[in-house]
Amino acid sequence: MNEKPGIVITGAAGRMGQMLMRCVLESDAVRLVGAVVRPGHPWVGRDVGEAMGGTAVGVVASDDALEAFSKAQAVIDFTTPAATLEFAALAAQARAVHVIGTTGFAPEEIAALEPASRHAVMVRAGNMSLGVNLLVQLAKQVAAALDEDFDIEVVEYHHRRKVDAPSGTALMLGEAAAEGRGVELAQVADRGRDGITGARERGHIGFAAVRAGGIVGEHDVLFASESERVILRHVAEDRSVFARGAIKAALWGQDKGPGAYDMLDVLGLKP
Ligand code: NAP
Repeated sequence: MNEKPGIVITGAAGRMGQMLMRCVLESDAVRLVGAVVRPGHPWVGRDVGEAMGGTAVGVVASDDALEAFSKAQAVIDFTTPAATLEFAALAAQARAVHVIGTTGFAPEEIAALEPASRHAVMVRAGNMSLGVNLLVQLAKQVAAALDEDFDIEVVEYHHRRKVDAPSGTALMLGEAAAEGRGVELAQVADRGRDGITGARERGHIGFAAVRAGGIVGEHDVLFASESERVILRHVAEDRSVFARGAIKAALWGQDKGPGAYDMLDVLGLKP
């Protein structure tokens, strides 16, 4: 029996899906056992190595998620909230670790993921990189140290094809800053300003989203008083940072009990 955990990638033809397959194929710690695409996708039945423009790797893209998941120890899923909700139930049925990188969930969709996490390990994070997860901790600490004389703004930059805003990472950073201040983000978030908005309210946390070109992902947490500014910044140079973090999460989850986890658990950064 092969000891290396078998991984299925969902949304295999997507930007992250292809990066994930490349990283899994290059990894010595895991093996690629399946690739799931949308029903009717032109990749169905094709070897994914060839579909990505290279040589055959012996894994054929499928639109039968449950069948693919039943052969896997982990499912790595960077798709859409609707697809991830379906995959969560199927991954739980197959008792596979479900690593969720998908962003843009509505609060009720996050609640709908909960039943699946009672039966299997689910690791969900709006950003799977080590650097961003460190930044989350730093944002919390700095927010706790600085009082409301410092306005907090989260500014994010992403490529032109991103469909949700603010980014999952921006929301994680905003949550961390709110936690550091001891407030509820929902009570203080200013998400998108346009027109006569009135002066900025003291204690609020603002979000701004830039969408341009091919930017992989950049995040600033700005703390600004009348006389000084502190800026915490993370720049992702390449999508492989997210893919490597997701593989780490899939491996970490192998010996854990059912439950909902995040990257702070995986990276051992939980206070
Ligand atoms: P993308 O290129 O649009 O890829 C998404 C893929 O999911 C597409 O190939 C899409 O197929 C597929 N898909 C959608 N519904 C499906 C279904 N029911 N069954 C099978 N496949 C389905 O987007 P991306 O840039 O890779 O990003 C994907 C998600 O990951 C986004 O939510 C993004 O914000 C998030 N993300 C997270 C991190 C992190 O670290 N957590 C990092 C980067 C990106 P079709 O094209 O056929 O619809």
